[in-house]
Amino acid sequence: MLEGCVVTDVVNHGRFCAQWFMLFYVQGTAKDPYVVFFERGQGPHCTCLAFEHSREKIKTCKHVVRVMTHACLWNELWYSGGDRTLQPVPRTCRVRTANGYECPQCGGPVVIVPSAA
Ligand SMILES: [Zn+2]
Ligand SMILES: [Zn+2]
Repeated sequence: MLEGCVVTDVVNHGRFCAQWFMLFYVQGTAKDPYVVFFERGQGPHCTCLAFEHSREKIKTCKHVVRVMTHACLWNELWYSGGDRTLQPVPRTCRVRTANGYECPQCGGPVVIVPSAA
């Protein structure tokens, strides 16, 4: 997944599929699903223990990888999107979506992230 792509800030600036700002439930070995989401300036988050104990600079875990691979997560900068077999939790978008744009991969809303001044 995303091999050779060094990502320091997954949500930097430009147009992003609104799924970047939504929650994903990923079923692991535990009874309750883990929650995966992305935070601008901080990268991915997961509620599992492996993520919490990850020693990577940008923390990750298999649930984050699963979301990256199977959700849409298109953006105009560095990702043409996953295979879209995983859908985000409806109505969990945390930011305003842009009028007049739709994601070229999933047809969903798009968020325009301004570059940090
Ligand atoms: Zn995880
Ligand atoms: Zn999309």
